[in-house]
Amino acid sequence: MPTDAPSTDSAAGSNAPVEPDFDTVVVSGIQPSGRLHFGNYFGAIRQHIDLHSRHEAYYFIVNYHAMTTVQDADALREHTLDVALDYLALGFDPEEAALFCQSDVPEVTELMWMLLNLIPTSRLEKAVAYKEKVNAGLTPNAGLFTYPVLQAADILAYQGTLVPVGADQKQNLEIARDCARWFNHTYTPEEPLFPVPEPHILDDVAVVPGIDGQKMSKSYGNTIGIFDEGKTLKKKVMNIVTDSTPLDEPKDPEACNVFALIKLFADAETQAEIADNYRAGGYGYGHAKKALLQLITENFADARARRKELAARPDYVHDVLKAGADRARATVEPVMAKARELAGLVSAR
Ligand code: ADP
Repeated sequence: MPTDAPSTDSAAGSNAPVEPDFDTVVVSGIQPSGRLHFGNYFGAIRQHIDLHSRHEAYYFIVNYHAMTTVQDADALREHTLDVALDYLALGFDPEEAALFCQSDVPEVTELMWMLLNLIPTSRLEKAVAYKEKVNAGLTPNAGLFTYPVLQAADILAYQGTLVPVGADQKQNLEIARDCARWFNHTYTPEEPLFPVPEPHILDDVAVVPGIDGQKMSKSYGNTIGIFDEGKTLKKKVMNIVTDSTPLDEPKDPEACNVFALIKLFADAETQAEIADNYRAGGYGYGHAKKALLQLITENFADARARRKELAARPDYVHDVLKAGADRARATVEPVMAKARELAGLVSAR
């Protein structure tokens, strides 16, 4: 570990310019940990899709990371393919950017090893996600402890400059920024190999509420899946918790979970119309729920149809992931060759 490592980044999120020599490269990892929900969509996916066609971009399904908690091989396989189908159905265009499985670029684990030898253990002990697990009485495995370093390797291997992250991921990005600085400082002070990546903080969409009014999250079992439909979707929407104001009385739309969701799906005019109905009275929560159901169904009808089409073409999905992996490896291989050389790893290959 370098004794005179550069100071720890306390200002991640600052908008200091990235190294001018590096072009914008967007990198983002997506967890294959179950079916995606509307919290994920409005809090992350929508912006991932928007960014991927504007810059060189690498989006990987982080199956190595998922192994820290998922040790059921069938479940991991299924979740990985689900994420690929979800992103393709929601508008990810494989012509524009690379979508692939993290484990198809095993070089990232090699870079992780290099970085692990530069980062002080104390830096990882302070990571919030790790501390939360320890405080909750769990015995985290070593994978979970080193999780942010694999994330750093994922970003640096592509010489990523821009990382779309939710507020909950900012600390891990600070670790990635430190890893870039430590590597550069140790091996290439004159000509940095790695840009110091910048966070692209995802729009501060107010937290999307789940059907019980808490934050929508897999862990709370209160989600509405992006691809839920029919009876399942209807049941979830009808079960959204509301207060017991009688139908005739005026209601405050801003205090209602149903309206919070309506706002995400409806255009300004429809929102204003529904808000007026709330305030006028004679409009019950049942009416609002029907309006929401219709909005969800209409907004995602195309994506739902496309997902079904894609699910029936596993070879196509495989080909997309393979092409993405080929593109990703072509980017990573020269970077890793340079990293090995700089670190003094002799190769006789
Ligand atoms: P979960 O809580 O269901 O496990 P994740 O932690 O995997 O969801 O979420 C991945 C990303 O999706 C988060 O980093 C965040 O940007 C976004 N996200 C998840 N849930 C919500 C929510 N309820 N509201 C807004 N954004 C969310």
